[in-house]
Amino acid sequence: MKKLFNRLSIRYKLTVLMGGGSVAGLLFSGILLFSLVLAAERDASIRTLHQLAGMAAENLRAALAFDDSESASSMLAALRSHPHIQLALVDAKNGTLLGSYRHPGVSPGLFDQLRQHMYARHQAADAAGWGEGTVVQDMTQHYHYVVHPIELDNEHLGIIAIVADNQALLEKMQHLLLALLVASLLLLGFLFLVSLRLQRVFTRPVLDLVHTMRRIGKDKDYGIRLDNPYQDEFGELYQGFNGMLQGIHERDERLSEQASTDTLTGLANRRFAADRFVVKRERSLRKQEPLGVILLDIDHFKQVNDTWGHAAGDRVLQDISHILQACARPYDLSVRLGGEEFMLLCDNAGPEVIRAVAERIRRAVEAHTCVLDNRQSISITASLGCCTCVVSADAGADLMQEMIDCADRALYRAKHGGRNRVEVAPLWP
Ligand code: GH3
Ligand code: MG
Ligand code: MG
Repeated sequence: MKKLFNRLSIRYKLTVLMGGGSVAGLLFSGILLFSLVLAAERDASIRTLHQLAGMAAENLRAALAFDDSESASSMLAALRSHPHIQLALVDAKNGTLLGSYRHPGVSPGLFDQLRQHMYARHQAADAAGWGEGTVVQDMTQHYHYVVHPIELDNEHLGIIAIVADNQALLEKMQHLLLALLVASLLLLGFLFLVSLRLQRVFTRPVLDLVHTMRRIGKDKDYGIRLDNPYQDEFGELYQGFNGMLQGIHERDERLSEQASTDTLTGLANRRFAADRFVVKRERSLRKQEPLGVILLDIDHFKQVNDTWGHAAGDRVLQDISHILQACARPYDLSVRLGGEEFMLLCDNAGPEVIRAVAERIRRAVEAHTCVLDNRQSISITASLGCCTCVVSADAGADLMQEMIDCADRALYRAKHGGRNRVEVAPLWP
């Protein structure tokens, strides 16, 4: 049962709890109200009989004193106006029946039965001359009755007993039960509507959170944020959730930036270049435009390190990266391949264009002076090797490496041709 409850969604759990609570509450208050009304009605019924018996006792004194059975019976016959009274009887002090009234619906057999029953229930009182000075009352499942003493000047003359059925009480209680049922059903309906609304107050924030979590799990998009209209604990939860997403998002961006850029120069690294090369080769194939690769290698860079120190070498590498970016067209990609080797990936660059771009870079490097923090200045040159091709449909998967190798051969020629030069490989392949 507990397992089944745990498996229910929050919405159903709340419905079960609220519904169960409402039914239990209504049942409890219904039973309480019913019991209180039943007790009050019982008392009222018995009280009515007492009043009747008391009034009749007054009138019956003379009949008892004179042993007048006829007038006793005719006085009792006046109780006919009370339809629920089943029988009334007057017993003289010695226990003989002086007079009686019997409702037309009560057979003589039933009359005796009721009388015996009444006497049997009060045997102890009977033995002591029952009813003498005391009032006896009782209620059974079908009848209620009172036995009232009749006295004159403190002398016990006899008793009057009146028995009434419980019909009126039963009818009243049936009506009450029906009214309680109708009221409970109406109240339950109302509570159900209220609970639906209340339940939404609690389930909506949780469900929103769950939906967003599922969406993030599916799309892996940590840029999503939850709208937070709440100022309670839900608001705190949403804030924490959004904060967590922000943290993951920032860490992701940092990681992917670290994975795709060179930390010293901020240029793209070989990995990122390989990703972008896929797009560029696709574009070249689709547009049938030449794709160009320029390799740049600083001349005698080892000497820079040896002469000015490694930090100065780093500074030169950073300056070269700025020159490369400044000379590149906006859609070209500047890459640091490693060490003092750089690459430029150029869209729509045939042999003439690629040579012109490379020349521009070479001249810029040659013209540049790197000023160190200690105001010393370093001048350097670079050699560049270029390669271009229009990508064909049957080009190999390792096209980037093949183009780099091709540009490297041109670079080798530039180095051996005296450095500070640009060489373009014959149209590749
Ligand atoms: P060449 O003209 O033939 O290219 O000679 P070179 O001295 O430039 O070439 P070589 O390959 O002999 O030396 C490259 C040097 O680059 C060696 C290495 O210490 C240096 N280097 C590689 N990476 C870094 C770096 O990140 N920072 C610094 N400061 N130096 C680096
Ligand atoms: Mg080198
Ligand atoms: Mg070098």
